[in-house]
Amino acid sequence: MEVTSIHVSPVNDLVEHNTTGDDCPCGPTTEPVPRPDGSIGWLITHHSLDGREQHESNP
Ligand SMILES: [Zn+2]
Repeated sequence: MEVTSIHVSPVNDLVEHNTTGDDCPCGPTTEPVPRPDGSIGWLITHHSLDGREQHESNP
């Protein structure tokens, strides 16, 4: 079974995100995503550290 990781990270953030491992300063959210072929993919969502997400969720 192949396991793949999909990293979603903010573009041009103040910090560099570690998208090659599991250890990133932003404390990314990792959740398993079942794929159509039966394998499990990991969706790793990185958080911007400049407050951009908060701003976007409160327009
Ligand atoms: Zn990150």
